[in-house]
Amino acid sequence: MYVVVGGGVAGVCCVQELVQLLDNYSTSSSNSSSTVLNGPKITFICGSAGFIKTVDEVSKVTKVLETIKVKESPVSSYFPTDKVKVIQENVKSWDSKKKILFLSNGDQIIYDKLCIATGASPINNFENENVLTLRDLDTVEILKKRLETARRVVLVGNGGIANELAYELKGVEIIWAIRHLTIAASYFDKQAATLFLPRLAAGRLNESLKPEAVRTRYTISSHIESTSEADPSTSGGCALGPYWLSKLEQKDGNKKRKVHIIKDVEVANIENWDISKHSTLTDLPDEFEADTNGWKAFVLFSNGETVGCDLVIFGIGVTPNSEIWKNGNSDLKIANDNGIEINDKMETSIKDVYCAGDICTAKGFHSKHWSQMRLWTQARSMGIYCARSMLFKDVEADICFEIFTHNTNFYGFNVVFLGDFAGEHLETPYDADVRCSPEQEYIKVLTKDNRVHGVVLVGETDLAETFENLILDQTDVSPIIDDLLNPHFDIEDYYD
Ligand SMILES: Cc1cc2nc3c(=O)[nH]c(=O)nc-3n(C[C@H](O)[C@H](O)[C@H](O)COP(=O)(O)OP(=O)(O)OC[C@H]3O[C@@H](n4cnc5c(N)ncnc54)[C@H](O)[C@@H]3O)c2cc1C
Repeated sequence: MYVVVGGGVAGVCCVQELVQLLDNYSTSSSNSSSTVLNGPKITFICGSAGFIKTVDEVSKVTKVLETIKVKESPVSSYFPTDKVKVIQENVKSWDSKKKILFLSNGDQIIYDKLCIATGASPINNFENENVLTLRDLDTVEILKKRLETARRVVLVGNGGIANELAYELKGVEIIWAIRHLTIAASYFDKQAATLFLPRLAAGRLNESLKPEAVRTRYTISSHIESTSEADPSTSGGCALGPYWLSKLEQKDGNKKRKVHIIKDVEVANIENWDISKHSTLTDLPDEFEADTNGWKAFVLFSNGETVGCDLVIFGIGVTPNSEIWKNGNSDLKIANDNGIEINDKMETSIKDVYCAGDICTAKGFHSKHWSQMRLWTQARSMGIYCARSMLFKDVEADICFEIFTHNTNFYGFNVVFLGDFAGEHLETPYDADVRCSPEQEYIKVLTKDNRVHGVVLVGETDLAETFENLILDQTDVSPIIDDLLNPHFDIEDYYD
């Protein structure tokens, strides 16, 4: 029995692939030379909610880069009942030695091969009724309700969710607390962040200007984070898409949207508002509401500043849901980020146990242009590859594990990340070529030894395919190194 646990993209894609492969095998097994392990039966434990996340549409942008649409669907009629037994329960505990799962309804499930795909949960270090983290449509609904009356929101974090919220929230004062010195620092350097600032101040824009492009080249001589304006640095991490925000259906509200950023801080404490304790607050810019009738919550930052607000939204990342798996199963290797460690075959440290999606920490993939980020596209690829690995010995990883690709949206700009876009695995010194047209585009290409290793494309650049190929093929770009970002030079044509 193949058992898959978790109704997110990773689990669902794993089950779909298992169904297809077992079908194909049963019709062609007499001619097949592959080594297939027997046991064409699948049990899908999707969680008690009864809803699963399905991939509705896959659009290829380039050979590897793709965008996917994710939909929430009721699990009841999704899989053919003769092929998949669906159980709408949670796994409560696990005996890895006896290969038994214990479910929340008291049932026990025995497996031959297991895929763990139980995802991750947003990090929230503060238990307070005025603190919200976003994970699914339910939490977006709660946010929508709270925004109807909130006068001021404190937004914490500098990742995809926080950046999108800072840009998109309407009719509310936003105090945005970030750990870095620049916005979106997990993905972009200081120069790119500057491109976003006017859009952040204005909120979502419908039109864009097209001034002259500026090109620069600089050499990154060390990985140590710099605070100087002249030496932009990047650190790893990646983004979330914008579409879930449409669910907020925001009105403009009574108030003008205002944003104030508090940089280089973390949240030290959050308490419910109490006028006797919280009468003195940090001065905010004049256009912000004075502390009139008090607020619902009180946020204390690590730099000693204090701010009152009606809601705190945390977007500071996720932690894998590995607790139930590690309890009592000490042979299961857990990484420092709490993810279950997997090798390049999606296998955990326990025989016949595989793992895919946000729950896992991919240790075994060694391409210097690929890194794990907890994204839908990776959850899908991992789910599919996991199914293949569960069925076939010596299966090869797909090309999508050779190069990191991600297509998303920041401040209304189309954004593509390729390869080692933050230079995390590049030995210094290496070169960064940058072309920037304010309000139009930003392109950054990291090269070392005349090979392209990582690229950030902001705006409608049409360069994704070309750069993806240059990274995958490790083409020698020395003949065109000075024209790499010349807008009048056609690289694609040159290499054709
Ligand atoms: C607000 C938000 C917006 C995002 N937007 C984007 C985006 O635009 N683009 C992008 O690429 N990524 C985005 N992400 C990240 C993306 O959602 C995740 O990378 C992806 O959903 C991971 O899929 P998964 O299947 O591994 O886990 P999940 O989707 O978390 O699914 C885990 C499943 O396991 C089930 N489960 C958990 N515990 C148990 C248990 N004990 N027993 C049984 N079942 C269990 C859960 O019910 C759930 O069905 C976003 C994330 C958030 C929070």
